[in-house]
Amino acid sequence: MGYRRGTWTIHGLRRILVTLGTTTDKTELLRKLPSVDGLLRWPAIQSLVAREGQSAVVEATRTVLARIREEILAATLDKTGVDLAISGLSEAIERQTGADLSYSLRGVINATGVILHTNLGRAPLDVRALHHVSQVAAGYSNLEFDLDSGERGKRDVHVDRLFARLLGDAGREVSTIVVNNNAAAVLIALNTLAEGGEVIVSRGELVEIGGSFRVPEVMAKSGATLREVGTTNRTRAADYENAITEKTRLLMRVHRSNFEMVGFTEQPSLDELVEIGHKHRVPVLEDVGSGAFFDLRDVNANGETTILDSIRAGVDVVTYSGDKLLGGPQAGLISGTRELVAKIRKNPLFRALRVDKLIYSALEATMLAYVKHDYDAIPAIRLMRTPAEELARRAEAIQVRVSVALTGVEVVNSESVIGGGAAPTATLPSVALAISSASMSADEFAECLRRSDPPVVVRVENDRVLIDLRTVFPEQDELVARALLSLK
Ligand SMILES: *Cc1c(COP(=O)(O)O)cnc(C)c1O
Repeated sequence: MGYRRGTWTIHGLRRILVTLGTTTDKTELLRKLPSVDGLLRWPAIQSLVAREGQSAVVEATRTVLARIREEILAATLDKTGVDLAISGLSEAIERQTGADLSYSLRGVINATGVILHTNLGRAPLDVRALHHVSQVAAGYSNLEFDLDSGERGKRDVHVDRLFARLLGDAGREVSTIVVNNNAAAVLIALNTLAEGGEVIVSRGELVEIGGSFRVPEVMAKSGATLREVGTTNRTRAADYENAITEKTRLLMRVHRSNFEMVGFTEQPSLDELVEIGHKHRVPVLEDVGSGAFFDLRDVNANGETTILDSIRAGVDVVTYSGDKLLGGPQAGLISGTRELVAKIRKNPLFRALRVDKLIYSALEATMLAYVKHDYDAIPAIRLMRTPAEELARRAEAIQVRVSVALTGVEVVNSESVIGGGAAPTATLPSVALAISSASMSADEFAECLRRSDPPVVVRVENDRVLIDLRTVFPEQDELVARALLSLK
């Protein structure tokens, strides 16, 4: 017993000493670090201050010192490590200052093949649209000024006229207003037209759309009550009709977006829904989501109707996004009868949800391209329309360009998707470079490509990196080749 206790005591004492020792070591290591004030007197740091300014350099110095301190406390830096860190301090501070003062939001090369990739900023904008944006936004504009009368104007007019032309073929007069995004469009439309009343929606359409847009939740926030009809897979026209009461304000149809039902399903056509609505004097609201002004059947992708189709069917109000199939800036569009759209426009929420001159100018340029049938001026559509043979030629050229240094690069057929919840099961034939590296896993390879400048974002399939050319702009081919060559 006594012996054991003695052992324990010695062992315990040693433990205390060891702990004391490391604490002392750490304190000593921390003491070796120069102070911020001390560092600011170093010549290298003084010249950095002269270039980048005192406050940025002080901030970066604090960040770098805090990082080293943390590593000392976590015991990931020993004495040699600390000496090394101190000798590299001025470079580290310079790098940190550079990182702090550079853009976080930057362009990337989308080699995923997903045309409307929500994480990569959805629809790219054309240089012509950007030129218009810079013309309007770099100075003053007639955003809310009528140049004829010299009086106050409305920002809506700039795009409403173009939408009216594009949707005028339906033989009805159509007005369009713009809000921040489609979620906002649905919110303000429901709030204006159905607050305090009921909105009839099919159970099969109560979906969650990417980025947690849930119809029932938006409905609750709008102050309208959801009246679900039908079952998940089947809803008949009579289900809507039987649910109409004096509390009913709207019949609503929601595009299922990135979700499709097959098999034993039923849904009344838009025409039938409109017929029921008009019979009972209840307006029909359709949340289309993707907002096509271009017929996707022209690129052999089915299952997506256009906004004109909805207006033709007699829907009273349609809501859709600006940066999905429309191919413009982020926006929410509300098109419909003059009377209902004017009512929505008068809602005080409009003031909170309206968009600025950057969006109006980008949207105006996009819609003008549609009016002129100039689809090549809308990048998302241009990418969809590129023939697969052209993608194959470009893929082969990149393959040849990198073959001097890189083996294991194959040109393969691929399938790209539209994305953004549009035509979820439709694919476009595409061509990709498939790469397997001898020295890295496909995930590691993908990570290295993301670290390139500009970053290249790829798809990984069957432990191979796929660079899908459907979403790579031709002028980026050389950058892709260089990114590959720099990795080898
Ligand atoms: C994408 C989508 C939304 C949300 O649109 P945002 O522009 O992202 O706000 C709403 N409804 C449907 C049907 C959609 O597809």
